[in-house]
Amino acid sequence: MFSQSLNDDAVLNKIFLISERLIIFDGLDDVFSHIVKTSVALINAEAATIRIFDVQSGKLKIMKGFGMSHGFLTQPAMNIGEGIIGRVVLESKPFVTEDLTAEPHCNNKEIAKIEGIKSFMCIPLKSREKCIGTLSVYRKKNTPFSDHDMLILNIFGMQAAEAIEKATLVKELTRQTSIDHLTDAYNKKTIMTAIEKDLSLSSRYNEASSIIFIDIDDFKTFNDMHGHLLGDKLLHDFVSILKKNSRKMDTIGRFGGEEFVMLVPHATKEKALVIANKLKSAIEKHRFTGKEDSTVGITFSAGIAAFPDDGKTSEELIKRADEAMYQSKKLGKNRITLWSDTMPPG
Ligand code: GH3
Ligand code: MG
Ligand code: MG
Repeated sequence: MFSQSLNDDAVLNKIFLISERLIIFDGLDDVFSHIVKTSVALINAEAATIRIFDVQSGKLKIMKGFGMSHGFLTQPAMNIGEGIIGRVVLESKPFVTEDLTAEPHCNNKEIAKIEGIKSFMCIPLKSREKCIGTLSVYRKKNTPFSDHDMLILNIFGMQAAEAIEKATLVKELTRQTSIDHLTDAYNKKTIMTAIEKDLSLSSRYNEASSIIFIDIDDFKTFNDMHGHLLGDKLLHDFVSILKKNSRKMDTIGRFGGEEFVMLVPHATKEKALVIANKLKSAIEKHRFTGKEDSTVGITFSAGIAAFPDDGKTSEELIKRADEAMYQSKKLGKNRITLWSDTMPPG
């Protein structure tokens, strides 16, 4: 029968969508995109959103949506237990309604009305018995979600949760291999890659970009006086002060023991000097932890080289910023030197 074969096709299509291996997707964001789009196709819904619990804020954040307005997707993060979605997580139980705007626990009725939402279904995303977030689907027409829809979404939700967990793990492993564990600065390989990427963009858009080479002054003396452990703490605190006092777009990498390289994009040497001076006074002001309740002041020496005037490649720029830093050491430390071709050789 024709109608029967159509139905079979629809079922096969659903099985195909569910069994597609989510883990092949490239990165967490891609996994989220695939999940919302697939749920819409599977359930014949018009929109879908995914919320994930964020450990830092302790809230459920919208990670991805499909078929909704920007206003709907930028709704604030939700507390556990708050509204319908917050309850789905708290109780780890799905929820379904024919009219979301008539539900007493719906805490975003106004925006749901504006969006024209009627039917709503939300399932908890469970990974190893732990609820990590929710997957919600919406219909604007008056066609309620069926038990069959709920079953299909639940099966898909199990796959989705597993894919999210794996992609999160991969993301975390990638992060771990790109950072220096002691200081939380990027490692040498990662900062080099970041500089190369930045230089190719700067070259394409004809923009300046600078490198600040930083070396802590007399760090060996600090280690000798206060011990290696507090030396480690100093390195960690040093980097967090540099991060706090630089722009969001600036990237800091640990180059060696007490040597750091900061990539300062969209900055001429003069602009980079302003940033470096800000870092210098922040470090000078800070009291670092020393032995037996003591606090210690430290300084650094730095050198700056800029693209394109001082070099075109990352190696060339780092070498020149390092030479300028060495000049700062020779001139008595605790200073910043701009690289110039008239600088005496190191
Ligand atoms: P200068 O002002 O000329 O830069 O002198 P300095 O003492 O800072 O430089 P030097 O190169 O003589 O010594 C660097 C010291 O950094 C020696 C080394 O033990 C220490 N160091 C390197 N890596 C680490 C680390 O991870 N932890 C600790 N605590 N010390 C480290
Ligand atoms: Mg050094
Ligand atoms: Mg040093």
